[in-house]
Amino acid sequence: MSSGEGRHARQLLIPDWDQSRISAATIVLAGMGALGNEVAKNLALLGVGRLVVCDRDTVATSNLSRSVLFAPDDVGAPKAVAAARALGRLAPSTAVSARVGELSNAVGVGELADADAVLGCLDSRHARLSLLGRCARAGAPLIDGGTHPWGGEVRVRLSPDEACYCCSLTPGQRAEADAPLSCDPAGAPQPASIISTALVAGWMTTAATQLLLGRPVGWRFLQIEALSGRTAPITVRRDDGCRFHQRPDSVDQLELGGSATVRELLDTLPEDSEPLVWTMFPVPGICYHCGHESVPANIRGGSLVSCPNCREIVHLDLTQRLREAPPDATLSELGVAPEEIIPVRSSSGGYRWLRIAA
Ligand SMILES: [Zn+2]
Ligand SMILES: [Zn+2]
Repeated sequence: MSSGEGRHARQLLIPDWDQSRISAATIVLAGMGALGNEVAKNLALLGVGRLVVCDRDTVATSNLSRSVLFAPDDVGAPKAVAAARALGRLAPSTAVSARVGELSNAVGVGELADADAVLGCLDSRHARLSLLGRCARAGAPLIDGGTHPWGGEVRVRLSPDEACYCCSLTPGQRAEADAPLSCDPAGAPQPASIISTALVAGWMTTAATQLLLGRPVGWRFLQIEALSGRTAPITVRRDDGCRFHQRPDSVDQLELGGSATVRELLDTLPEDSEPLVWTMFPVPGICYHCGHESVPANIRGGSLVSCPNCREIVHLDLTQRLREAPPDATLSELGVAPEEIIPVRSSSGGYRWLRIAA
């Protein structure tokens, strides 16, 4: 018996358990807050082979009461990095890749497509819908969790034919999600404790494990109510107006790394094609205070810059058009994630999908 088998001896006794499927699996975790911590801990202890953990934030003191992977020394460190460090001690055979940044800049759609499951541990509707859109594009199985003070919800999306999280929202809620705010418009902290975090994480891990073992997941939307002791699946009807039910398009592979430049990418494409990226970047513009004609853009610096001539603040235009980017900028400088899949519009108006492989 190898040490790996010794470590998992008890779960190997579970009827029809197949540890080889678990240890061969890759799971992407979006969000390394309290819920992400708890889910990552469970998956690593189960012996999942590889975890990609993504979060843009740093550890705060208020995270410590709900986050098993963070210690007081981690305050101020990127959550993804601190979590990867703790997971390395907890389960050395699990390979962990830490990604610091927004999911759309840090984990490419191609990586989501390659993963055995994607677990959403996010705390805003906007971030959830963005993850749902990327998983729909990738055709990736998505298990999304959310907590409330005494329970929460888990939503499983395995096929474009099934109802999704967005189907469960009212038109007003969908429109609200376009504004960059969290569940609480006032920005006040949401009430939360490790209790609902652990409950929801347990159900998310159960669904993920069933997927990894190649077994059906018996529910799609689960409501967890700790105080009444009631936890049950609910039915959500598919909304014909929901935009997340397209089938993934076929994708062409392009062997360029993240260190490739815009010019290198454009050189592979017809001149009249229009390649686009998922996140906007600023383009040089004219100063509307003094008329200075070439206010330079810092591609990672946002749209507000100081005019080099009059020093006034200028609001530059943002674009997703790669042809407007500095030719020598690298794709990763522009925020293109590793293994990203980008749309390329042809002169006839049709789209082709291109995976930029490392
Ligand atoms: Zn839907
Ligand atoms: Zn100026």
